[in-house]
Amino acid sequence: GHGMSGEAPEAAAERNHGGAPLVPSGHSVSGVYESIADAIGNTPLVRLNRVTEGLAATVYVKLEYLNPLGSVKDRAALSMIEAAERSGELRPGGTVVEATSGNTGIALAAIAAARGYRSVVVVPDKSSAEKIALLRAYGAEVHISPGSRPSHHPEFVRNVARRLAAEIPGGWLAGQYDNPANPAAHRATTGPEIWVQTAGAVTHYVAGVGTGGTVSGAGAFLKAVSQDAVRVIGADPETSAYGGGDGRAWYVESVGHHLHPETEVDEWPSSYHRDVVDRIERVGDAEALRVLQRLAREEGMLLGGSSGTAIAAALRVARPLGPESVVVVIAPDSGRSYLSKYFDDDWLGRLGFPLFRAGSEPAVGAV
Ligand code: PMP
Repeated sequence: GHGMSGEAPEAAAERNHGGAPLVPSGHSVSGVYESIADAIGNTPLVRLNRVTEGLAATVYVKLEYLNPLGSVKDRAALSMIEAAERSGELRPGGTVVEATSGNTGIALAAIAAARGYRSVVVVPDKSSAEKIALLRAYGAEVHISPGSRPSHHPEFVRNVARRLAAEIPGGWLAGQYDNPANPAAHRATTGPEIWVQTAGAVTHYVAGVGTGGTVSGAGAFLKAVSQDAVRVIGADPETSAYGGGDGRAWYVESVGHHLHPETEVDEWPSSYHRDVVDRIERVGDAEALRVLQRLAREEGMLLGGSSGTAIAAALRVARPLGPESVVVVIAPDSGRSYLSKYFDDDWLGRLGFPLFRAGSEPAVGAV
């Protein structure tokens, strides 16, 4: 971003007050931007202090919900749009089309709005009502498709998006599952931010795996810059195929990979680079949701389900490590998008997670 006058805000404050700083020391001021897209990235790392009791290692959470469109996907969406603008696939007056569980679509729709493009988003029917409302608020045309269709089925979300992109004049399919600009965004921004923020002290990098862009892109950067010293750990729902699960359904949105029950053929998205990932930690819904609740009540962090998956994995990774270890884990989005699910007593009770009902104490020592 560029300063409004080209002068640092602190300097202006100082001048106005005859040398007395307007901004208290210890409070850093930054960020005047020319558009919403310019405000993407540079999210904070915040240390976990209470759920890490008994652990020697330091665990930092990278709070991606502080991106201006609300999630880690702001980075990939901007990167994909800019690559398509450069290649000429996306032209003025064009339409951005994507299949997404929500966050990628939200970021694409908002950046499209700011740049004068239309947007069409196809979402699986298990997406939260809040995410769908958000897409519509940014002006996206939303198509809802059954999430349970195998990959060759015409109603499979990605096939619907592909068809719409071909039918709409000026349509461009973002295609986050195999668009190299997705992992490239994390190689170019998420990874370098973590390296600089930890002053090169990061030893373990943990991220949930959806398309694989976050874990692969930042993971590749951190391995390269550390000469392979940084360990990269993917966090995956227990039954998801990335970690060798049988593909049975799970509740946490936006992470994991389903096997295709009819073909039994499996293909990893090309945004997921298996060679970068040292190991996968498999985390069940109950464990992810318990960690989510503890993060809200004990750390003041209201995070989305996939953050529960990733942070549960990070706590496992940290357990055997010594005090010199620094674990950085990605929290992709905020719990505000899931108040009617992961933080709702009725939803939890209905699905057999009564353990988490409001007023009950989190199980001691359980993470
Ligand atoms: N968590 C949330 C909430 C997401 O929206 C996504 C992206 N679908 C992910 C995790 C996974 O990120 P990635 O696609 O980069 O693997």
